[in-house]
Amino acid sequence: RITLEKVCKSFGALGVLHDIDLDIRDGEFVVFVGPSGCGKSTLLRQIAGLDRPTSGEIHIDGKLVNTVPAADRGLAMVFQSYALYPHMSVRQNLAFGLENARMPRAEIDKRIAEAARMLEIGDYLERRPGQLSGGQRQRVAIGRAIVRNPTAFLLDEPLSNLDAELRISMRAELSALHDRLRTTMIYVTHDQIEAMTLASRIVVLRKGRVEQVGTPLDLYNRPANRFVAGFIGAPS
Ligand code: ATP
Ligand code: MG
Repeated sequence: RITLEKVCKSFGALGVLHDIDLDIRDGEFVVFVGPSGCGKSTLLRQIAGLDRPTSGEIHIDGKLVNTVPAADRGLAMVFQSYALYPHMSVRQNLAFGLENARMPRAEIDKRIAEAARMLEIGDYLERRPGQLSGGQRQRVAIGRAIVRNPTAFLLDEPLSNLDAELRISMRAELSALHDRLRTTMIYVTHDQIEAMTLASRIVVLRKGRVEQVGTPLDLYNRPANRFVAGFIGAPS
């Protein structure tokens, strides 16, 4: 369970997040949507621990984590740019974080085998990222998160570098993965369709504030205001 209380973030004089309150329950698929620059990535980075709020509190399973480093929060982040190590094979990319955590070899191999089966990347474990397609790379990036067995996945526009067709099939794969793992997912996108199809709950952000939180159907049928209606695409 991840809770945010009055989280604010400023960069110098620029206020980017204002009094964000959120309560994310275990197993939810929460999608942050909103226009470019509204603070989606900044919000995800505060949760991930890649950055610290200016004020407010972030709790994971009841524990205040504001000063807990990213590596100790039990979360795994997937970026738009994949962020794979180009000089390492797929297998080495998957193993890297686990080796650093001094996990026994047998357990590392078991987790890689499981993730490879789940994501169907077993055939190119010995290749380097440069020898893979965009969709394959994105699967490896997701695999690297899966092997860490996180309590939640944080995904920042993971599909936005893919072409439209691949995006649709990867969207379905992500949905199936969530059905299977039942791990909390927090997913950032500015794509309304992605939000509507993936989310159990959508958080609509605008200029660093939460405009509305609800199920896709709630937002579609009962948008709080014109902005949400316009953004979610309901007739108004
Ligand atoms: P996009 O959909 O384009 O990815 P976003 O909703 O993820 O947008 P953020 O990246 O969170 O937006 O940025 C929100 C605002 O904060 C922007 O005005 C951005 O310029 C600013 N910002 C983000 N990171 C920093 C930083 N490290 N220093 C200064 N300003 C920043
Ligand atoms: Mg962003």
